[in-house]
Amino acid sequence: MKKCIIIGSGLGGLSTGVVLAREGFDVTILEQEAQIGGCLQCFERRGVKFETGMHFIGSARPGQTLYRLLRFLEIDGDIRLQELDRDAYDIVRLGNDEFRFPNGKEAFITKMTDYFPKEAEGIRRYVECVERVAQASSLHTLDTNNADNAISTEYQLRSINEVIDGLIADPTLRDVLVGNLPLYAARKDKTPFSTHAFIADFYNQSSFRVVGGSDNIGKALQRKLEHYGGQVLTRCKVVKILSNDASVVGVSTADGNSYEADIVISAIHPVPTLAMTDSTLIRSAFRKRMASLPNTIGIFSVYLDFKEDAMPYMNSNYYAYRQGVSPWACEDYTFGDWPRGYLYMHFCHEPNPCYARAGVILSYMRFEEMSPWLTTSVGHRGEAYETFKRERAERLIDSVERTFPNIRQCIRHYYTSTPLTYLNYTGTPEGSAYGIARDISLGVSSHVPQRTKLPGLFLTGQNINSHGILGVLVGTVVTCSDILGTEYLYQNIIKANQ
Ligand SMILES: Cc1cc2nc3c(=O)[nH]c(=O)nc-3n(C[C@H](O)[C@H](O)[C@H](O)COP(=O)(O)OP(=O)(O)OC[C@H]3O[C@@H](n4cnc5c(N)ncnc54)[C@H](O)[C@@H]3O)c2cc1C
Repeated sequence: MKKCIIIGSGLGGLSTGVVLAREGFDVTILEQEAQIGGCLQCFERRGVKFETGMHFIGSARPGQTLYRLLRFLEIDGDIRLQELDRDAYDIVRLGNDEFRFPNGKEAFITKMTDYFPKEAEGIRRYVECVERVAQASSLHTLDTNNADNAISTEYQLRSINEVIDGLIADPTLRDVLVGNLPLYAARKDKTPFSTHAFIADFYNQSSFRVVGGSDNIGKALQRKLEHYGGQVLTRCKVVKILSNDASVVGVSTADGNSYEADIVISAIHPVPTLAMTDSTLIRSAFRKRMASLPNTIGIFSVYLDFKEDAMPYMNSNYYAYRQGVSPWACEDYTFGDWPRGYLYMHFCHEPNPCYARAGVILSYMRFEEMSPWLTTSVGHRGEAYETFKRERAERLIDSVERTFPNIRQCIRHYYTSTPLTYLNYTGTPEGSAYGIARDISLGVSSHVPQRTKLPGLFLTGQNINSHGILGVLVGTVVTCSDILGTEYLYQNIIKANQ
């Protein structure tokens, strides 16, 4: 029985743990925090629960992409889902105009064509392009012989805006199609079209909230892991990856304990991972390359606790941008014009709710804004930090109030988090929302491998493939395929879905 240590109990660590424990590995996941889950974590204040980093998921109907992976992980029956409005799972507001995104390819084409009749041809070609790119991946077809690598490579090297501009002439429609940009924090001329295509296709198939909170996904994975003999140890911060001249031999933790292992899988960002090993088998050029990769921007969140039976539940995600502001321009805000845009959502505490108990408003925040408080710790950042957060929360609520005039009357309390909060609770450098940013100009240099040159040390989680529930679970498949064999793993996913 091979001993496997996994660093970090986020979605990446937990799902990798389940797959390997089921295959007979002796899996221990070490988590630095008291609570498991990383971005799946929820917190509770005054009896109301808030999600911190997984607010909705897609393609979760039987047979769809995510559903097949949840079934493979044997947790499809353990989480309750509430479908978002099929006619408007996303609503994008540009200035005073609203655009609704319906589920389904044809419904989406029809709706966008209603808004932009002159672009009918371009809209269809855009949707077909999204579909072609999403389906080109072998992880979509689960058939290693059927992957269209040429398409995948082409759209990994072309930017989102280059592809969309080539298909669509209307500048407003171009902005509408990237209206949900905060979901992947893309950058103009940099982020590959494939990132956009996977996310657009994923949510267009179907979109859901997790009833009762996204921590239920983490709890379900932990139960499955324990069922197969694995365990998660919390409050165990890994500080060193131990190795000899030939391979990894274990890890040590901040409390002075060591854990032997035949394989170590790091489910955290590669930079802190590499800082924990001084093995010369990992070349300095690789360390430098990982350290030079850009991270996605951070997020400022306002968590809203609504008065009972006051705020009608909104079964859509609402993305809004100021008049004249493109979704592409939100990251480059100035102090005076923040927030240029926001994403506003309600949480789903029970099936088919009439009223929302809680919601969240998210907007980009650059890490440089955190510089006065970098040396402070949670709960001891001082009054200036509290004032900063209050002032920003008020501005964000003011922005939402322009479209939802009754929102302030419905708020009982609100709470906030900054990129520093994410740095503290997940360890992600710069409190980045989604980890390493994909950048076409870096070509293959931006690739993060699942296997390192130190035998026995692997990587998984949002940085090796992509972020989000699908991106991370695909990363899990990539890492576990390397350990167990691709054909074997794909066959197991197919069998689990028969
Ligand atoms: C604000 C926000 C909203 C989001 N919304 C959505 C959404 O609606 N839908 C969606 O699909 N995705 C969403 N995402 C993205 C998604 O949540 C993440 O991509 C995913 O959960 C990342 O999982 P992970 O396992 O790679 O990393 P993480 O969740 O970051 O987990 C890493 C874990 O490792 C632990 N750790 C770090 N260092 C150590 C150490 N030295 N020793 C031990 N443990 C350590 C951390 O404490 C953490 O638990 C959102 C993210 C954010 C930030």
